[in-house]
Amino acid sequence: MTATLIDGKAIRDEILEETEREAKALTEKTGVVPGLVVILVGEDPASQSYVTSKKKTCLKMGWHSELIEMPATAKLEEVAAEIDRLNADEKVHGILLQLPLPGDLDEQALLERIDPAKDVDGFHPTNFGRLALPSFIPCTPKGVVELLKRTGVNPRGKRLVVAGRSNIVGKPLALLMARKGPGYDATVTVVHSRTPDMPEVCREADILIAAIGRAEMITTDYVKPGAVVIDVGVNRADDPSHPKGYRLTGDVDFESVKEVASAITPVPGGVGPMTIAMLMTNTLESAKRAAGVA
Ligand code: NAP
Repeated sequence: MTATLIDGKAIRDEILEETEREAKALTEKTGVVPGLVVILVGEDPASQSYVTSKKKTCLKMGWHSELIEMPATAKLEEVAAEIDRLNADEKVHGILLQLPLPGDLDEQALLERIDPAKDVDGFHPTNFGRLALPSFIPCTPKGVVELLKRTGVNPRGKRLVVAGRSNIVGKPLALLMARKGPGYDATVTVVHSRTPDMPEVCREADILIAAIGRAEMITTDYVKPGAVVIDVGVNRADDPSHPKGYRLTGDVDFESVKEVASAITPVPGGVGPMTIAMLMTNTLESAKRAAGVA
């Protein structure tokens, strides 16, 4: 059996077109143009590439966008002052603090400084705590839900295993998939580094979502034949034959698992593109709320 490939890029493009159309309608009706600002502290190359594509996407859609770059030596009060300024700026509907932060900058304190109404990443405790209710859903978990929806995979009543329990992906994803309502309603199990017999638990899954950050760890031993496999992982594997000296790979051993699964996301080109698309939908949502039309 060769799995159907879940094409995250095509689905992202579809969502971005819809979002752009909706934003134009909002602007025509209310004059409000969605605005997203990204704060990048330090010079982490992966973060630099993420923020560049976020800014590009915004500009392509004709939205207000700013990239605030601060040196790795920036003090907590300096980053907080930027956040305060953006909280008060009416042109800004989304504020994104790119993680990880360098040095010993207090990530939690800064995330909590962002106005929850502009927290389009969904990491403020107010939004995180509201995961059971409508709020800003963190972009990567929201992207996974949307991928499943748009490829016709209904999680209702299914056994769904999330591998990983981070605050950014695993935990919000598990809470989300256990929500009541269309697109959710899964019976959720979370596995992590302290789970004995992880392959056995994963093999119970009708839908297996890997978010562990371990290159190609999920082999066919972890996958029930016919399961849907979503790979959130983005890892660098050494590859001297590649011009960059490495290649990107997921947490799933794609080549073997695609022969067992019924559908699978590739890396790159699966969950990754969805994250930016969801950031745009969250920013539009914020702009609509600010315009009083949400
Ligand atoms: P993280 O904070 O390092 O969390 C990893 C989780 O996986 C932890 O819960 C950890 O368990 C678990 N884990 C690690 N090794 C394990 C093992 N050998 N067996 C079982 N569980 C194990 O990572 P993250 O931020 O959630 O990111 C996970 C992956 O997703 C990374 O590859 C990251 O690059 C990628 N990611 C992709 C996107 C995207 O847009 N596509 C966005 C965010 C993250 P413990 O809790 O027990 O330590």
